[in-house]
Amino acid sequence: MHSLRSLRETKDCFMKNGLLQLYLNKLLHMTFLNQNAANQAIRLFFTACIILFFRYADAQAPKVYDSAFIEGLKKEALASVSSKEKNIQEMVDMIFSFGELGFQEFETSKYITDILSKNGFSVEKGISGIPTAWLAKWGSGSPVIALGSDIDCIPKASQKPGVAYKDPIVEGAPGHGEGHNSGQAVIIFAAIAMKELMIKNHIPGTIIIWPGVAEELVASKAWYIRDGYFKNVDACIFTHVSGGFSVGYGDPGMNGLVSVRFSFDGEAAHAAGAPWRGKSALDAVELMDVGWNFKREHLKPTQRSHYVITDGGDQPNVVPSKAGVWYYFRERNYEDIKSLYDAGIKIAQGAAMMTDTKMKYQIVGTAWPGHFNKPLAETMYANIKRVGMPVWSDADRQLAAAVQKLVEAPKIDEEGKPVDGLKNKPDTISGSVPFSWGGGSDDIADISWNVPTIVLWYPANIPGTKGHHWADAIAMATPIAHKGSLAGAKAAALTLIDIFTTPKIIDSAKSYFTNVQTKDVKYKPFITANDPPPTYLNTEIMAKYREQMKKYYYDPSKYKTYLEQLGITYPTVEKK
Ligand SMILES: [Zn+2]
Repeated sequence: MHSLRSLRETKDCFMKNGLLQLYLNKLLHMTFLNQNAANQAIRLFFTACIILFFRYADAQAPKVYDSAFIEGLKKEALASVSSKEKNIQEMVDMIFSFGELGFQEFETSKYITDILSKNGFSVEKGISGIPTAWLAKWGSGSPVIALGSDIDCIPKASQKPGVAYKDPIVEGAPGHGEGHNSGQAVIIFAAIAMKELMIKNHIPGTIIIWPGVAEELVASKAWYIRDGYFKNVDACIFTHVSGGFSVGYGDPGMNGLVSVRFSFDGEAAHAAGAPWRGKSALDAVELMDVGWNFKREHLKPTQRSHYVITDGGDQPNVVPSKAGVWYYFRERNYEDIKSLYDAGIKIAQGAAMMTDTKMKYQIVGTAWPGHFNKPLAETMYANIKRVGMPVWSDADRQLAAAVQKLVEAPKIDEEGKPVDGLKNKPDTISGSVPFSWGGGSDDIADISWNVPTIVLWYPANIPGTKGHHWADAIAMATPIAHKGSLAGAKAAALTLIDIFTTPKIIDSAKSYFTNVQTKDVKYKPFITANDPPPTYLNTEIMAKYREQMKKYYYDPSKYKTYLEQLGITYPTVEKK
């Protein structure tokens, strides 16, 4: 690309001085002194070749756009995204109403890929052997920019939007108690705005749209990386719902993890008649858990580990022949995660030995600790500041205050800033933390260690909630989510314009990635070529609730909003 660029510059220089023709004539004159018909033809041929070559070089070289032109594009993009306000609201509400758990996002996947196909994207479905995943592509050539956002929800988080007390749509059903229903609207409408500008102005490049399937299980993104879907991607913009409007770079202080399911195989027997003839798999699970809980004292305070018993047997009078336990082992770096993983396996082996049962384990999820790209984050942050926070209405503020009261939100957040209703200003850009006690995980990190990546946090939820809770769903199909997603789409669109028109942003992003981020730390995956994505997870839960939930799918042909469809007065803050 660089040699082409310098050729193009040479050509520009000649053209500017009116010298190209002169140069060609001189060159040809020197070469073909005899003006007979044969060399006239050769001369014409060579002239055509040279002109065609310059044309080719011109078409291949990244164009340099001036700032007035870029500013013009940005104004158009803001207008284009604003004109999609209704589409954004519909998409946010629709995915909210689907409320699908990880690997079961079939309605969501169909709905989104249909929209992408209608908008000219070529869609490859079922990537990495995950039925609900896809890779949608539009455009050609470089740069290749991937836009991603999660689509799955949380178990038992069904909740009516706009209602500030527990009121599930379907009792016990899953729901968007994290707000993953809003991110696809952010990236898709930013991408469509960019696509229109690229067509109109002949801007080269490729846009990719992909979903974070089963993010709550951290079980898709490392598989996409393993299977090569991000090989030719130059940069990735990921978006995630938040109570604030921000972006960061470096190490945000999160933990990485492995998610491992242990299963024990014993021997059934009459629990009263012949217990001495049984080998309890449940005993093995309990002993493993006891072992792990003793181990905790000797782990670094940065670790987080938690488990659920996935199978504890069938009924008390049968010695459980099968039992299972599912662990998340989290730490701050690869080596420490690996050592938790190894310790977990050892304790499981000990438990099997004590109970004379057989143990098997399978990794079913993984995430590295995140690290995000500085030049991309700085580009995004300038655009976040330009877009600014949405204008919140009194109703939005009323709902936010009621939800914060309901969840007993802390008075100050982790950064020491007050938690008081909806935010009025974008957050400041944050860099690497000097130290962290650890925290949550997101498998976007596996992409961030392979491709320069940032996460745009857009303000579509209420600050101060607990996360992974039904109350986190309350705002997610209300004007708070609609306006926050619109703001996010604007910031993403402006950043796409910067990236597609200013090649040095990608150059610096790659330089940061190579010379800073991965200088001393190299990505090593936790999964092997043989670990399948655990797409069977959540099948039974979804099968149990799907039919009841279908009755409440959003119908935008009949109702302006999902609130209207459910007959909810916005906001409803007190139980009647
Ligand atoms: Zn999330």
